[in-house]
Amino acid sequence: MEEYLKSNRRKWLKQISALGAASILTTPSFSNFGAYNKDIKTEFIKLSSNENPYGPSKKAQQAILNNMGITNRYPFDLTHDLEDQQTTKNGLDKGMVLLGAGSSELLQTLGHWIVSNALRLTYSTPTFEILPNYVKRLKGQVDSVNMTSQFEYDLEKLLVNSSRNPGVVYLVNPNNPTGTKIPKSELLAFLKEVTKHSYLILDEAYIEYVSDSESLVTEIELNPKLIVLRTFSKIYGLAGLRVGYLLGHPSLINELKDISIWGSHSLNVEGIMAARVSLNDQQFIEESRSNNEEIKKTTISTLKEAGIIPYQSSTNFIFFPIPNNDDLRAILALEKISIGQIKIKETNYARVTIGTSHEMKILIKHISKIYT
Ligand code: PLP
Repeated sequence: MEEYLKSNRRKWLKQISALGAASILTTPSFSNFGAYNKDIKTEFIKLSSNENPYGPSKKAQQAILNNMGITNRYPFDLTHDLEDQQTTKNGLDKGMVLLGAGSSELLQTLGHWIVSNALRLTYSTPTFEILPNYVKRLKGQVDSVNMTSQFEYDLEKLLVNSSRNPGVVYLVNPNNPTGTKIPKSELLAFLKEVTKHSYLILDEAYIEYVSDSESLVTEIELNPKLIVLRTFSKIYGLAGLRVGYLLGHPSLINELKDISIWGSHSLNVEGIMAARVSLNDQQFIEESRSNNEEIKKTTISTLKEAGIIPYQSSTNFIFFPIPNNDDLRAILALEKISIGQIKIKETNYARVTIGTSHEMKILIKHISKIYT
């Protein structure tokens, strides 16, 4: 490691001046997971934002080209088509969907709804924190419950906490950044109990990497307090087009529409058209899923040879404690590889997106050089 850093000193200094000393030297935190991913045009291997390295699919690319000529128009009619497609695919009634410019926009609307209804938010940590952070910024009330030492959800603790402080529970399943997943039977039991006193917002951004059958969308019809969030930014490979959706009871959808300026219409024409074909492109989804599984398996077994043991992952990224508590993100940035990093109780953890086989070979080459 010492040797490695010594031999890279010149590169390191150059990199610091290029990236800005402040950004590379600040303590890594969850909020700047993608700090080395700022310039979309750099030649960095991007393993920090859990995007699909194979997307957009060929069909989505064709749809984008085919529809360039209508981008002078507002998307209103097209928005309704995508809404109908979503509800039909998920076996839900019209009026049970809200679209957003990425699920982040919908999380913002939910944050606004939570605070304006004086609801208390309970969530589990570590997780994807933009909703709790936003609620805190709006001076709302937030409680967090630690995951277990193995980064599994502690559903019992969540239940006890939320029953004392009812309101809204936010769960990401499978979770970001840990990659861990709640078994469906346990999640169903939790849903039944928690919605006796609170709403459950279930963020399923990565569910397609497991299987649609693990989703809880079909429960929405039976349980008006369940809200499910999905995105086209992950397996569908459309992160740059910003398309997300929320499924919930019609009365809740109406409340959310009332507090948003555009309702479902903040999407763009290209995003809608690409999402529409992607939703039915089963072959692309299956190929992306199976490539991810295969490359993830090889990556994990090679990392084990370097003494790195990732947690079980049901997603397109892996999560592990960094040997020697190094600042691995800064070290790999010297090699033009961006990864995510988070500090939990003084320990640095890496969150690494599964890229293409070629990208992972380059990553492994550098990690092996550092740790074996
Ligand atoms: N939810 C989770 C769990 C995520 O990991 C992300 C992005 O990484 C999002 C929501 C937001 O995704 P987007 O706004 O691109 O739909």
